[in-house]
Amino acid sequence: MAMCRFAGSVAVQCLFVVFTSMAAAGVSRHPVVVVMSFDGFRPDYIRPDVTPHMARFRDASASPPYMRSAFPTKTFVNHFTMATGMYSETHGVFDNSMFDRHNETMHYTYEQFHYDDSVVPIWIQNENNGEGRHSGVMMWPGSEFPYQGKTPTYIGLYNNSIHWNSRIDTIMTWIENKNQPANLVFAYFEEPDKTGHKKGVGSQEIKNQIVRVDNTVKYVVDQIKYKNLEDKINLIILSDHGMDTVTYDRLIFLDDYVSNMTYKSVIAGPNAFILPNMGKFDEVFTNLSSGANTSKTFYVFQKYELPDRWHMKNNPRLDGIIYLLAKPSYAFWNSFFQKILDDTTKEMFRAGTHGYDNDEPVMRALFMVSGPMFKKNFTAQPFDNVDLYPLISHLLALDETANYARPVNGTIAGVEQLLLLPKSSNTGTSSSLPSPHILAGMIATFIEALKKF
Ligand SMILES: [Zn+2]
Repeated sequence: MAMCRFAGSVAVQCLFVVFTSMAAAGVSRHPVVVVMSFDGFRPDYIRPDVTPHMARFRDASASPPYMRSAFPTKTFVNHFTMATGMYSETHGVFDNSMFDRHNETMHYTYEQFHYDDSVVPIWIQNENNGEGRHSGVMMWPGSEFPYQGKTPTYIGLYNNSIHWNSRIDTIMTWIENKNQPANLVFAYFEEPDKTGHKKGVGSQEIKNQIVRVDNTVKYVVDQIKYKNLEDKINLIILSDHGMDTVTYDRLIFLDDYVSNMTYKSVIAGPNAFILPNMGKFDEVFTNLSSGANTSKTFYVFQKYELPDRWHMKNNPRLDGIIYLLAKPSYAFWNSFFQKILDDTTKEMFRAGTHGYDNDEPVMRALFMVSGPMFKKNFTAQPFDNVDLYPLISHLLALDETANYARPVNGTIAGVEQLLLLPKSSNTGTSSSLPSPHILAGMIATFIEALKKF
């Protein structure tokens, strides 16, 4: 067992492995990690009176008040960041829709997720590490595509008509498969984002979806208990970004500032890629900059001006682009907003959107984890979602660079605080032994596990 290979704390490490193996006969001999993403679920949606099961799960788990999303705070960007451990400038996905190499709009294409073949999701790297490791991916953005010609052992293709509990039932069959048990599962759930976009943050409709998420968390926790896998599965529940509400008076019409005959665009909510026509770059940039200065509702960037902290600008996919970002609660007019307006009045118009600066509190994402390798009842410091890959890689003892994968941007430093047994303890030195209270907790848990037999 990989956990037993460090001589300095061999007794403790092997005790831990024996305990996890006993509690979970029939599943993978490796640690098992399940990641469930609920799109656009803000951490402040959790309230004991609305989401009692999630509130209990959070309080009993290791969880920061929030997890920082990558920029742009969009769905494909952040799901791919979490899957690859890379910022947008490294993995090359900058929005759900963006320009392709022919300057046409691409949306969920192989090309979009393959800026570079050395960008490899962790579900592939898990299998590249062999020794009976198998991955299952349920509807996670980008999972249908092969990477370096490989797909995971189990794939659930995106189909939002499949009941959420059925998706969890399928995941459990992957984990309990006798021949190829999955030790790593990624699962995507499309709400409350989908309803949030149509109805805004404070609506009854989004509240219904938040309650639906809560019931789903209860279902998966119950399934894990029922199957006696509580001491085997490390369950991570998270989201990709937050959500804000836009009213009609805060919609930005670019036609007010620049002729739409002078550029092509891909616009979604508060984010816009502007590609000026040949010879029109200076004119378009000057007009947009003037509009931003007078309206004070959005920012205009040439590629080199994008802030370093967004980790966005160093990628040739943005060559020749003028990038626009709306200020919080503002958004650029597009056909999606027209559809909402078709069913209401300008006064009653409410739409949810995201993509704002990842420093904005309303863009914060959810993270909570419960399982044998994590602290319990632990309030963590916030960390970046790019660090999820190094965390899982550590749990599963992976060689991250197997098969020429590009080194990831994330680090274990921000997420090590969550671990029952910190990574730094795996050095074989006397100072690396777990602290007395961690050791006492492990022994108590081990005794509890023995009682079950
Ligand atoms: Zn999303």
